[in-house]
Amino acid sequence: MALVVKKFGGSSVATTEKIMSVAKRILGEKKPDDKIVVVVSAMGDSTDNLIKLAEGIDEEPYKAGYSRELDMLLTTGEQVSIALLAMAFQKLGQPAISLTGGMVGMRTNSVHTKGRILGISPERVHEELDKGKVVVVAGFQGVDRFGDPVTLGRGGSDTSAVALAGALKADACEIYTDVDGVYSADPRIVKNAKKMREITYFEMLEMARLGAGVMQPRSVEMGQYFNMPIHVRSTFTDKPGTIIREDYTLEEKDFEIRGVAHDQKVAKIAVLAVSNTPGIAHKIFAALADANIDVDMIVQSIRNIDKNITDMVFTIALDDLPEAKKVVDKVAEEIDAGTVLVEEDVAKVSIVGAGMLGSPGIAARMFGALAHAGINIDIISTSEISVSCLIKGSQITEAVNAIHDEFFPDK
Ligand code: ADP
Ligand code: ASP
Ligand code: MG
Repeated sequence: MALVVKKFGGSSVATTEKIMSVAKRILGEKKPDDKIVVVVSAMGDSTDNLIKLAEGIDEEPYKAGYSRELDMLLTTGEQVSIALLAMAFQKLGQPAISLTGGMVGMRTNSVHTKGRILGISPERVHEELDKGKVVVVAGFQGVDRFGDPVTLGRGGSDTSAVALAGALKADACEIYTDVDGVYSADPRIVKNAKKMREITYFEMLEMARLGAGVMQPRSVEMGQYFNMPIHVRSTFTDKPGTIIREDYTLEEKDFEIRGVAHDQKVAKIAVLAVSNTPGIAHKIFAALADANIDVDMIVQSIRNIDKNITDMVFTIALDDLPEAKKVVDKVAEEIDAGTVLVEEDVAKVSIVGAGMLGSPGIAARMFGALAHAGINIDIISTSEISVSCLIKGSQITEAVNAIHDEFFPDK
């Protein structure tokens, strides 16, 4: 007997036919005593469509003030797919029940649209499994201490699934999606991307954080926290996928870097002519932190040494732009800075790999590949296991391919 948590993403449950196929596949593989929990996302593009609906009311629905209502709206997407999947199981003769985030005891903080899981009390899940039911759980959602729905950020069903697998002490956690594993770059952009058989939490977290959307970053953190290996695999084939785990177990380690990630959902903000005095950076970034806005690459450059004036440039997630602009405009006025400029035609391309620690030549090769392709680098940032470059948004496909060709040449 095994307790398995399986998560199916939006494209895997995009139509009722696909929902029926998911139910059939699960039952086809289920051994009589297996306990199965299925976490699902909203059907197809329905989360995007719900956001578009909200845009009919206000073109900036992510603006502070709406976030609770946006969560009320977005959580309906997953409620549709869980009900349909539970019905599909019942139609096939398998008892099943659908449960929302609140019903499975998924407790979150109250940061609407970017909630974090505080704890899970999955007694109800155990009870229903003990009755012989397949339990179908709404991903992407939990409830806060007021009982209000809170979503976990885009792609958050991955995190729901891994957290639930950890809390249930599941024997396995499988993420079914529209690709058959984690690749050395997004296979939709890089045709010769290589599939990995395994990757460590450490490297996968960095890939995900830098834009590899196949897993939400927090789901990888959850996997590491619970030491729960995560199997990323295809909904449409039964080929083995990629295992995300603590350490490599195979001899597949002769790579210079692990992968190339990219992120097009970024924006750049520049606060020009800021006084180069103590406390200024703190004022800008504390105001953004108070608004729950993550800041990514930060550059402070001297523009006029005589007048002791600098420019402060940083990047944020594109969804946060309207709110961030408001916050920064206000602080800029308070600190008597110059103009606040915003640029949306930007994207970030990154290389990731634990192996690059102490190998300065790797960053140089990345810059060389970009130069060779005629791509200008706007900002560079590094972490222990990654190097990122901000470039023009329209050049991202070319950039990812140029860097991938450099590190993963076809033999
Ligand atoms: P789901 O709806 O199943 O959650 P997502 O669209 O969130 O699916 O994630 C799967 C997508 O992630 C793939 O279609 C692929 O385009 C993208 N992706 C980005 N980087 C990678 C990568 N390194 N490996 C595999 N897929 C990637
Ligand atoms: N439906 C949500 C989204 O589109 C959650 C998810 O798919 O993981 O972001
Ligand atoms: Mg996803």
